[in-house]
Amino acid sequence: MLIVKKFGGTSVADAQRIKNAANKIIKSYKEGNQVVVVLSAQGDTTDELIEKADEINPEASKREMDMLLSTGEQQSVALMAMAIHSLGYPAVSLNAYQAKIYSSSNYTNARIKNINTERIHTELEKKNIVIVTGFQGVNKYGDVTTLGRGGSDTSAVALAAKLNADLCEIYTDVDGVYTADPRIVKGAKKLDEISYDEMLELATLGAKVLHNRSVELAKKYNVNLVVRSSLTDAEGTVVKEESNVEKMFVSGVAVDKDVSRISVIGLSDQPGIAFKIFSLLSKNKISVDIILQSIGRDNKKDISFTVAKCDLNEALRILEQNKQKIGCESISHNDNVAKVSVVGAGMATNSGVAALLFEALYNADININMISTSEIKISVLVNEKEADIAANAIHDKFMFESDAFGD
Ligand code: ASP
Ligand code: MG
Repeated sequence: MLIVKKFGGTSVADAQRIKNAANKIIKSYKEGNQVVVVLSAQGDTTDELIEKADEINPEASKREMDMLLSTGEQQSVALMAMAIHSLGYPAVSLNAYQAKIYSSSNYTNARIKNINTERIHTELEKKNIVIVTGFQGVNKYGDVTTLGRGGSDTSAVALAAKLNADLCEIYTDVDGVYTADPRIVKGAKKLDEISYDEMLELATLGAKVLHNRSVELAKKYNVNLVVRSSLTDAEGTVVKEESNVEKMFVSGVAVDKDVSRISVIGLSDQPGIAFKIFSLLSKNKISVDIILQSIGRDNKKDISFTVAKCDLNEALRILEQNKQKIGCESISHNDNVAKVSVVGAGMATNSGVAALLFEALYNADININMISTSEIKISVLVNEKEADIAANAIHDKFMFESDAFGD
């Protein structure tokens, strides 16, 4: 079998953990597999590099940021090759340039466009364990790029797709995908399996276990994906096309605190107003999430929506600048909000989910600011300080008062 194994930052944080990971890799290699390893930077390395840059130039160019950040992964792969050598096995480390991972040109948030796997295949044929840097690519100018925070997962899945790997294993510090973040929700349970679509929603909604682009790619190329612990031999969670949706109409609860709400108040109630507001924002590359329009008095309406916290100031600036053009009375905002979502592929066919969710929040005395729904998720906006309580209340409701989570 050809197996891609990705180890996250905590799984290679120090010498001992690198050795543990090396042993797992060697075990698989000794079983006769061809093994390609993808690594993140060790521990908090990426954050520390960002801090270093900030001290020197808070407005550092994105190109130089990528030059800097990509060094974290390069350290990991070299150290891992050394660890494997010390245990008596052949290994070679490659950075994105050597592994020919080509990306789009946008620094700090590039997308993998193509991978020329020739070099990797040659190394595998030479019986090497091939260790590749995650999180980085090379753009058309020959510069190194990075794929956005958490992007090593995407490197691993892209390699697995391109190499036609039999399996892509994502090793992390938890033993799989949970029904909620176990640090926030006490009763969170590990899932044995989850569908690509549900995982994509959860990843996009702020469950940090997988980079959302990696799930998109896994779905597109039907990659056999498993999330499992680097510390134990537990089974992990299989991410695949169809999960056991019959039994499990809700698969998880996610909390996203990186949210702020903007309200544009006293707009005239006529066609084209929403278009004006949202085209201004989209022109400035600000993505908007939940949108709510409400009818006010005297033929007036208000439009509220959420943006990521990092986009709040920019969005407010643009709106204030165009206040005349939009024709509103005032603009207000609140950044002490959070989005709590429940995700499940079975939701589309179970009308009771929304009612259960609202009942859970009512019982916990939590007020809902906004609501949005899709085929497989319901999100509510609540006060940030109530977000964890809300997540627990919702999770308990689905866990104990219905058999929504299966078994
Ligand atoms: N080292 C990068 C980060 O911290 C990429 C990754 O870990 O996936 O975001
Ligand atoms: Mg990660």
